[in-house]
Amino acid sequence: MLDYCVIGSGISGSTIANYLNKKKYSVKVFDKANGLGGRSSYKRFKGKIGFDHGLQYISPKTKEFKNFTKLLIKKRILKQWKGKHSFINTKVKENKKHVKLIGYSGNNSISKFLLKNIKYQLKYELLNIKREKNIWNLYFINNKKITAKNLIVTAPFPQSKKLLSKFVKKNLFKSKVKINSAITVLVITNKTKNKLSSFFTNDNTLGWVSNENSKKDLNSKKISGFYKVHLIMANYI
Ligand SMILES: Cc1cc2nc3c(=O)[nH]c(=O)nc-3n(C[C@H](O)[C@H](O)[C@H](O)COP(=O)(O)OP(=O)(O)OC[C@H]3O[C@@H](n4cnc5c(N)ncnc54)[C@H](O)[C@@H]3O)c2cc1C
Repeated sequence: MLDYCVIGSGISGSTIANYLNKKKYSVKVFDKANGLGGRSSYKRFKGKIGFDHGLQYISPKTKEFKNFTKLLIKKRILKQWKGKHSFINTKVKENKKHVKLIGYSGNNSISKFLLKNIKYQLKYELLNIKREKNIWNLYFINNKKITAKNLIVTAPFPQSKKLLSKFVKKNLFKSKVKINSAITVLVITNKTKNKLSSFFTNDNTLGWVSNENSKKDLNSKKISGFYKVHLIMANYI
């Protein structure tokens, strides 16, 4: 039986699993998605072309997180996103000191690095939880069952609430957490005029646009022959 079962392979789940593994606990991560990283996932399209699906870049603020990212830069997991970043949003003040860190091969590089020595299972959705005799009985999709001494759920708040409301003090789930929905549109175009790496707009619908090619230190010709890759992210509130 596992000491710890971690639900979610995003940055939270992989950080916790990495910590527990270092403490010599037996730990396994389960995620319902096809790949690692959760909201920092990287979507491949026709082999070599890829997009950061959610998280665009990291800008560490706390001392601890800065130290962690320094280690990842040293290990060539993260690098600075160079290029021309334009900020044309007049409603928010730009912090020019923000560094923009990105994964060498997609932003899920962080989860991949943290889970390097840890067992994980993808396409495993946790559907139901029962607790009997101090043991967590976890029921996954396709009638798969796992038992564990401890359970850690890192799913976003609404999903965690659904799974855990029987087990967690009611007060916690009374808190109002506002989740804004976001739509990410991935666009491939053969237009190569745009030299910007990203721009942050003033528009309520189209929040952010980034040129994924600018993350690779490659030009579009080297990637696919003629495609230029753009990611357009629209935030709906
Ligand atoms: C469009 C978008 C853009 C963003 N841009 C940025 C940015 O530029 N910079 C930044 O710092 N942050 C950004 N963020 C926020 C950042 O992505 C998240 O804060 C961070 O990735 C959350 O990590 P997490 O591990 O807590 O959760 P998640 O990454 O959501 O991980 C939770 C995991 O749990 C899994 N899961 C859920 N339910 C189940 C279940 N029942 N069974 C099994 N698995 C389950 C999910 O598949 C997921 O992989 C952005 C988010 C979005 C959506």
